Amino acid sequence: MTHNDVTLAVGLSPSELDEGDLAVVSPIDGKLIGRVVMQTPQEAAEMIAKGVEAFGSWRDVPAPRRGEFVRLLGNELREQKEALARLVSTECGKIFQEGLGEVQEMIDICDFAVGLSRQLYGLTMPSERPGHNMRELWQPMGVCGVITAFNFPVAVWAWNACLAMVTGNSVIWKPSEKTPLTALAVQKIFNKVANNFPEAPLGLAQVLIGDGAAGGVLVASPDVAIISATGSTDMGRAVGPVVAARFGRIILELGGNNAMIVTPSADLDMALRAIVFSAVGTAGQRCTSLRRVIVHESVYDPLIDSLKKAYASLKIGSPLDDSVLVGPLIGESSFKRMESALITASGEGGTVCGGKRVLAEEYPDGYYVMPAIVEMPGQTDIVRLETFAPILYVMKYVTFEEAVALQNDVSQGLSSCVFSNNVRETEYFLSQRGSDCGIANVNIGPSGAEIGGAFGGEKETGGGRESGSDAWKAYMRRQTVTVNYSEELPLAQGINFEV
Ligand code: NAD
Repeated sequence: MTHNDVTLAVGLSPSELDEGDLAVVSPIDGKLIGRVVMQTPQEAAEMIAKGVEAFGSWRDVPAPRRGEFVRLLGNELREQKEALARLVSTECGKIFQEGLGEVQEMIDICDFAVGLSRQLYGLTMPSERPGHNMRELWQPMGVCGVITAFNFPVAVWAWNACLAMVTGNSVIWKPSEKTPLTALAVQKIFNKVANNFPEAPLGLAQVLIGDGAAGGVLVASPDVAIISATGSTDMGRAVGPVVAARFGRIILELGGNNAMIVTPSADLDMALRAIVFSAVGTAGQRCTSLRRVIVHESVYDPLIDSLKKAYASLKIGSPLDDSVLVGPLIGESSFKRMESALITASGEGGTVCGGKRVLAEEYPDGYYVMPAIVEMPGQTDIVRLETFAPILYVMKYVTFEEAVALQNDVSQGLSSCVFSNNVRETEYFLSQRGSDCGIANVNIGPSGAEIGGAFGGEKETGGGRESGSDAWKAYMRRQTVTVNYSEELPLAQGINFEV
């Protein structure tokens, strides 16, 4: 299948992709897969105005009916799952199985949001005043700006958009400038559903193509009630203060530096499989990728030996080849950052295994690497950094408390896990003294979260939560209501104020 066939299969015709100032290349081979037009700041402002107008009517559509819309969107995604997954793999380089998984996540969050549309519950509270009732209402907010990263080019939009839409908001999506085609393909799927749904207003969901500057228009606009931004911590540092300055609502999903602790009682075969999937999946380019393994000294040698053997057997190549487990990095700059991190790690006392570029003759413009294992004498500066590539730092520990302290001693706080069959260790890990991350797993790796739980992390990961549980509350405003149905006007706290 050529890149052309892949884009055609999702309804992107060659004529739509042959002009524009943004060149889109596939990380598979560095070849051009399309050119798209970047929107100007003026066009972005027009989109925001359209989004505000769409919100004006969408908020009046009953929530279960908004859920019905999302149900139909899920059905359409089911129809187009394979074609969209193939484009995901072609545009961001993850293997086809992971591309399918990503589209499945979109479908799953649609299903979740449908149920949610009948469960936007508020509490009722007993009032201290006779003849009074108190309750909580949850109201839609307005336009939700969704800024996404290249590595989950479609699922993160769905996590946000499905919740934002069932809660009565309109959506403007600024995808990564590295993956605009998947966004345009999703918009086509969305339009197909919206065109057949009478209550869906024009501008309910829109795509804004551009780079950080285009995202900046959303971020700065007081007409964008919610900004949900996924990407690097540097991006969050730029976006956060701008939204804070205008008192907007923000959901930040930033970088991670995720660890696994492997204890003496761990099932080492299971730990090994979990390490390999979470460290090399998406070529180490997941926010939840495993980057640090902290291993008890008594099991260190057997585990690291098996890990090196498993790494040596990994098939690297085109993500569209079913037998391949490791696809390319997103581009040359990622490869350079990986190279430089490995040089620094060696300088800080690390022993590097793997990490070299491969398949350069077959793909001179594709950046394929052998995933690297780096044995470190301790948690040095480079280990504390998120390098968005398949580098796994391995360290030894002696006491469990020391291992937990090491895992927490980084500035990021996304995902974490422990492999142990000792309840004292696993419960300590899950206690207030344990992992300080937004996600803490036992006997599974740090990546591959299900949509039912709230997803996100602490510290420099930004504190946002998306997807399941009660993450929907971030897309609504809470209104506390007191109704007096008596013929008196008593004041709270028994205050006497006779007029
Ligand atoms: P990036 O920060 O380079 O870009 C992310 C998005 O932010 C892009 O759409 C980009 O155009 C936009 N952007 C950049 N600067 C901006 C600005 N000043 N104003 C508005 N928008 C701006 O990230 P990337 O390279 O695409 O993705 C990799 C990073 O994303 C990693 O750090 C990874 O951990 C993180 N990530 C986090 C999560 C999570 O849920 N926590 C999920 C996926 C990726």
